[in-house]
Amino acid sequence: MKKNPRLYFVFINQKLLIKELNIQQTIGSRSDSKLSSILHLPHELAEYQDQQQSLVMSSQYGQHWLIDIHHIDFVHESYALFSLRELLAILSPEEFQHVAQAWQYALFLRTHRYCGRCGETMRKVIWEMAMHCDKCSHRVYPRVSPCVIVAIHNGKQILLAQGARQITNGFYSTLAGFVESVDT
Ligand SMILES: [Zn+2]
Repeated sequence: MKKNPRLYFVFINQKLLIKELNIQQTIGSRSDSKLSSILHLPHELAEYQDQQQSLVMSSQYGQHWLIDIHHIDFVHESYALFSLRELLAILSPEEFQHVAQAWQYALFLRTHRYCGRCGETMRKVIWEMAMHCDKCSHRVYPRVSPCVIVAIHNGKQILLAQGARQITNGFYSTLAGFVESVDT
């Protein structure tokens, strides 16, 4: 039986590194195996493999590992960096969900290096998605942020809104936002 390869979510400066040649070939194909063809670790970045302790998930594509790299310039003829917004238009909903989960985990690890209770360095829990403080036993998990998105339409017309920061780029969207604890 063929062993599934390891897949690497490599984030460099908040963008996902993907094998561009493969994604160009598979755009629009909705191939179930697209993720396994675009998520690779180029050997030029092999030194970062030591950071790959972060197993994000296992799926039918294999094990997904996370490597989060800051502040390097990486240019490669076969690889390119894509923002999550760009990937939203390229990947299938199921594939994008995997990427979004990996990015959420990367953000979680970045922002929970130190204990919010006592300030001690935290360590990653290897059997679940959590960070733990050995000094005070405080344990934290990725935050789930409830949000809402609505499409208000009248026949073929739809109501779109434009945020203040989107005026210059002409971007409109449906109405959406996070649900605050006092919202009803
Ligand atoms: Zn602590």
